Order: sequence, then structure tokens, then C-alpha cells
Amino acid sequence: MDTAENYVYKKEVDWSLLKEGLTLPVDNQVVFGRNIDRLLSRGESRNITLYLDGQSYKAKITNVNFDPKFNRRKDTLQIMYSPNGELSNALKSHFIKSYQFICAKRQIREAGDRTMIHLPDDCKEYLAIYTTEYEDTYLLETIVADDIVALKDVVKNQQERILEARFNYDMVDEKSAIYETERIVKLRKLNKKIGDNLKLLYNYRCQICGKNSGEEYGSQIVEAHHIDYFVHSLNNDSDNQLIVCPNHHSIIHDVNPAFDRKRLLYIFPNGLQEGLALNQHLGYR
Ligand SMILES: [Zn+2]
Ligand SMILES: [Zn+2]
Repeated sequence: MDTAENYVYKKEVDWSLLKEGLTLPVDNQVVFGRNIDRLLSRGESRNITLYLDGQSYKAKITNVNFDPKFNRRKDTLQIMYSPNGELSNALKSHFIKSYQFICAKRQIREAGDRTMIHLPDDCKEYLAIYTTEYEDTYLLETIVADDIVALKDVVKNQQERILEARFNYDMVDEKSAIYETERIVKLRKLNKKIGDNLKLLYNYRCQICGKNSGEEYGSQIVEAHHIDYFVHSLNNDSDNQLIVCPNHHSIIHDVNPAFDRKRLLYIFPNGLQEGLALNQHLGYR
């Protein structure tokens, strides 16, 4: 858990990212938030280095939350790189499907139309950003459409609970590890890191009962659960993950309660309803 690579953000690929930069809300990213607090005050900029495929690229990070009209709970940052420069070109070639799709859409739209072009849900691509051991250096990983196709194939016959155990405890049995492609390793890491960040955010407490059940034993045993089961949704966004104690986690998988996203509560088949004792990341968007 104390590796230098910690979750910063998972950004959907859009035109701006392919061209010159992206915006990062700090909201619930614990380790990144701490880094940035040390590095940048409001309105300040710093030069940073981004690594993609072992290549380094220069970029600039700015804390843009100096304007009260942003009115966010935490700071908003912007990472900018030279427009259509080396990193932009590398990203365009990685995300060739997104790039071609967006280019085609831009060509046929009316002049002056500036609405954001999104890819269809089943072929969205993402850039994952992680911290490194250096606070001004970040690691980029691309999640392309073909990665998600490969993942779909790998998880299709798996059990949710077993898959989640792998994410939570980094368990990989050696037999299947041999067959894990680089694509799958990368996606498993992203899933685990998003969960790890949330565990830190709740300080290893269960969002349902509020307890840190391992605390008195010196254990940090808490688990990330996927509200819409990952084997069906392939959704590892933080707003599809809930941090729960092993008891609550087992109960959820045993009886399969429905989760009411509006009221943020579980409705159990026997009629019991249980809300969240702790919540800092669901339902804020
Ligand atoms: Zn609990
Ligand atoms: Zn679960």
C-alpha cells in the first residue's frame, strides 16, 4: 500500500487532453492532495515531468482555484503541455480511436459549436495518472478501447467476490498470473489504486458501520466493494466503489441487497434498510 504509485485521477479522453492538457479536481485524492498542498498554493504554477511508456515529457501544473467563482470544496489543478507537441502526439497515437472519432465529429459539426464531444459509452478511453516517488513527477498510463475489450473477456466467467479479493489484497494465483497480459495487469492496478485511495480517505473505516474493525489488532482490514458488480459493469470509477468492513462485505455478497443511489442506502431482502455512516465521495457530482 505504501508504494510510491498512488492514484491521482482517471480522465476520460477528450479533445483537450489530446491537444494540450487536462483539469484535475483534487476532491478526494488523498496522497495527491497532500503532495499538491506542499507543492502549490492557489494561483501558483510549477514545472512537472510526466512519464508515458518510459519517455519523459515536460508539463506545467497550475492551481487554478484562485477564483472564488469555482467554489469547489478543494483545489482544482490544470496540467498543460505544449499544444500539439511531443506528449500530445504520443497521446494521439495511443488513443487513435478517440482521436479519429473526435476529428470526424468536429469536421461535420457547425461552425461555432463548442460542445464537448464524448465517445459512446462502450468505447470510451481513459488516461490514468499516478504519483511517483518524486512529488513533481507523475506516471501516465493509457486505458484504450482494446484494453477494455480484453478485460471483458477475462472477467466474463469470474465471480465478483473472487475478483474483488484480487483487487483488495493483490492476490494473484500463479497459474492465472502467467496468462495475465500487460493490459490486465494495468487495469487491475488502476482498480486497486482507486480502492486504496478510498481506504485512505476513510482511514480504513467501513462506510456502512463506521468502524475500523482491524484497528485494535493493528490490522487495516477493509475492502473496496463495487456497487454495480465489476464483472458486469467493468466500472472501477470511485463513484462505483464503496469501502466496507469484511463483515458487511460478506453480508452484501451473501444476500445481494439493492443500493439506492439517491438516498445512499442498502435495502436488504428482509426489509432492513441501512444507510452510510460515512460518505465523502458518493453523490457529490
Ligand atoms: Zn461495516
Ligand atoms: Zn463486493
